[in-house]
Amino acid sequence: MRKFKNVQKNVTTTELVECACNFCGKTVIGEDDYLSSDITEFIISPGYGSGHDSDRIYFDICDDCLDNLIDSSKIRPKIQEIF
Ligand SMILES: [Zn+2]
Repeated sequence: MRKFKNVQKNVTTTELVECACNFCGKTVIGEDDYLSSDITEFIISPGYGSGHDSDRIYFDICDDCLDNLIDSSKIRPKIQEIF
């Protein structure tokens, strides 16, 4: 049997306070919720045999650049509405 007691500790956490779009450099400063509505993070892990097959690449992209990326695609990417 284990017994526990309450212990008060000072804990340091990290909060996102600034985010820049990797494509245009637009920077958004604010709280987590505000940042996540303007700039989206996407992570890719390129396939085996590609030039980055052992890499995981993190991008932050603003809504304008995301629209440009979608609109400039020769073949439109699949977009699934999730809400
Ligand atoms: Zn951008």
